[in-house]
Amino acid sequence: MDYVGRFAPSPTGPLHYGSLVAAVASFLDARHAGGKWLLRIEDLDPPRESIDAPREIIRQLLALGLHWDLEVLCQSSRLKSYDDALESIQTFTFPCTCSRKAVPDIYPGTCRLRKHLAPGGPYAVRLQVPRHSVSINDRCLGLQTWDLEKEVGDFIIKRKDGLHAYQLAVVVDDIHYSVSHIVRGNDLLDSTPRQLALYEQLEVSPPEYLHIPVLVDESGNKLSKQAHAKPVDTSDALTTIRSALSDLGQNTHEYSLSIKELLEKAASSWNPATIPNVHDICAPNAYLSN
Ligand code: GLU
Ligand code: ZN
Repeated sequence: MDYVGRFAPSPTGPLHYGSLVAAVASFLDARHAGGKWLLRIEDLDPPRESIDAPREIIRQLLALGLHWDLEVLCQSSRLKSYDDALESIQTFTFPCTCSRKAVPDIYPGTCRLRKHLAPGGPYAVRLQVPRHSVSINDRCLGLQTWDLEKEVGDFIIKRKDGLHAYQLAVVVDDIHYSVSHIVRGNDLLDSTPRQLALYEQLEVSPPEYLHIPVLVDESGNKLSKQAHAKPVDTSDALTTIRSALSDLGQNTHEYSLSIKELLEKAASSWNPATIPNVHDICAPNAYLSN
């Protein structure tokens, strides 16, 4: 199989340290395999995004030596493909007029029965999940299984405000670019069964998954843009990349003199088996904002 990996940041702000670690992991996994590594900007939710973020993310990645193959893909240019995919799985979808607040975490199927009635007002589109379990053999976490009906429930693939949901866009794009390996933070593990349901309904076999532990601050909260983690410092690329390597349990190749050399060595020695368990990782204070 030809290896294709990707890094897919949402442009809600500049890269923070947590997303950099995920970027480094997916980059090294792809380079180790001699595969392609793509960059996709997930700009599907304008109200949550910052206009300067895509350019800044690109600048940060380049400054750190993380070079991608092919052109950068922006999801905002792919809306037609998402609608086409929606149409092709119509038999599994239904309009939902429930208000977000009225719905418990696992959707109880309220609107399913009204599938063939006109919704009469703004509606979201939900995917009716298959009545069975799905599983992956995660390269870091091992076997993960979810009962789609009991643990996931019918989920939104197009929002009431007309925006396509992340779950749909990710799967459609990953299929379009023949992504074979997904390496990302385990804060996205919850999304995986939803994406597996979509792969099944689109009749495509899913990729391999490696979910890496996300960094947490000292109180156990994940480092995220929302939590105002500091943007990654690109002024000393060697130090920043070594710190990510160390958090990923990899050799930091202290004797490399350039970022290119460091990343080449790190790619050849890359070993996902030594990525530490989530509980062992805690972001150094330097990466948190005050
Ligand atoms: N855009 C998502 C995020 O920033 C990541 C998508 C993915 O890797 O599947 O959290
Ligand atoms: Zn509903």
